[in-house]
Amino acid sequence: MKALHEMGVAEMGRALERKQLSSAEATKHLLARVAAHEHLGALLCTDATLALRQASAADARRAAGERGALLGVPLAHKDIFVTRDLPTTAGSKMLANYRSPFDATVVARLGAGEPGRGAGAGMVTLGKLNCDEFAMGSSNENSAWRVVKNPWDASRVPGGSSGGSAAAVAARLMPAATGTDTGGSIRQPASFCGLTGIKPTYGVCSRYGMIAFASSLDQAGPLARSAEDCALLLGAMSGFDERDSTSAQRPPQDFHAQMLAPRDGATAAHPLKGLRIGLPKEFFPTALAPDVDRAVRAALAEFELLGATLVDVSLPRTELSIPVYYIIAPAEASSNLSRFDGVRYGHRAATYTDLEDMYKKSRSEGFGAEAKRRIMIGTYVLSHGYYDAYYLQAQKLRRMIADDFQACFARCDLIAGPVAPTVAWKLGAKSDDPVANYLADIFTLPASLAGLPGMSLPAGFGEGAMPVGLQLIGNYFQEGPLLHAAHAFQQATDWHARVPQGY
Ligand code: GLN
Repeated sequence: MKALHEMGVAEMGRALERKQLSSAEATKHLLARVAAHEHLGALLCTDATLALRQASAADARRAAGERGALLGVPLAHKDIFVTRDLPTTAGSKMLANYRSPFDATVVARLGAGEPGRGAGAGMVTLGKLNCDEFAMGSSNENSAWRVVKNPWDASRVPGGSSGGSAAAVAARLMPAATGTDTGGSIRQPASFCGLTGIKPTYGVCSRYGMIAFASSLDQAGPLARSAEDCALLLGAMSGFDERDSTSAQRPPQDFHAQMLAPRDGATAAHPLKGLRIGLPKEFFPTALAPDVDRAVRAALAEFELLGATLVDVSLPRTELSIPVYYIIAPAEASSNLSRFDGVRYGHRAATYTDLEDMYKKSRSEGFGAEAKRRIMIGTYVLSHGYYDAYYLQAQKLRRMIADDFQACFARCDLIAGPVAPTVAWKLGAKSDDPVANYLADIFTLPASLAGLPGMSLPAGFGEGAMPVGLQLIGNYFQEGPLLHAAHAFQQATDWHARVPQGY
């Protein structure tokens, strides 16, 4: 048997099933690993007593004859999901010491479940993971608490906003983690840290208990080491929830079975026979870093060997997705963050003269620079006289971007391209330049604006021996075919199995 921390989700689940391992053993081992790698800054809090209690509960469920691929497997949650038994800060001083009275739906479904709503998958929560403040960022440097280092090179960012999730899984502190993706925050850190991550179709996972950034874009999803592990996690996280009116009313999906189901006409040598992969020419601009271009094209050649055909397509409004997103997301954020007023939640200034002064001081002290910037942009684009010029135009373009995708999907089954224009950059390299951060989101924003499912999978290495991610985008609710293609690629390659040195 491998060392415990080397096991992925599916593998650890099998070891638990065969009684080669107990959840308590796995949990103790990983808690020690978390403590030994605190220098990475990946976790904001842990609770060993709580985790070991959950592990014993999982072991008891197995002893009583229950089975489950995830039962007793440890993970941690991005600190944007509220948790009843652990603090939740959303990476912000605004929520220092905040305790939620309930668990987010995703947390409950992966964990113990909820009374009256059935048992959960029985995973063990090791702690909460660092992230950019209110999930706003691409490098995790907007966390109010601490920077996160990339395990592949400690002088580089892990990506963001789910940077703690990515660093923790890449460093083998845990086999998987949850993340959220509004404009790329699962896919981009997965790419920067050599992981597999999936942002499902908007509505597949409930947003109940996910601290809102831009509600029409926010989606939860897993970061793990393989498509198989992502399929198992997504199956447990997803499903209709009457507490989120935007969650999709679909029967529960077995993504793992969909991932394994052979395609019509496929053969052992050509498992992807007949699959048409569209390459939007705008995803391969001349400005794309040559190392990223090389790794992505090599991965696409591998897809061809597996039987897929590559088709040229176009997403003509790709560049516009940056201004469109950076109008819509701040607009929604400015509204969502208005609830942090020093009265109902979070930080309140120690001294103030009157109510208005209390609002001003509490919000000035509680929010960091990026959150303030977005509140100001959002308030501006929604204000009388500017609404039509900015917000309404952005909404119209958002629809056109979604229509562009449908035109592509008439000619292909999946769309592929890079996740990000470069590999992970150096810590501090863009921290004073918000626009440079925004521009790096160019390839993840289109699928977010359209509400489409997107995946990141390790495709090779580039500059500085840093991981490069390949993005696959599917049509609405096509998570199954997406995971199927990613899994076939991972059966034929081992990029996803590479481990950063020293971990
Ligand atoms: N980088 C993007 C932003 O800063 C996306 C963040 C996200 O997906 N949460 O808004």
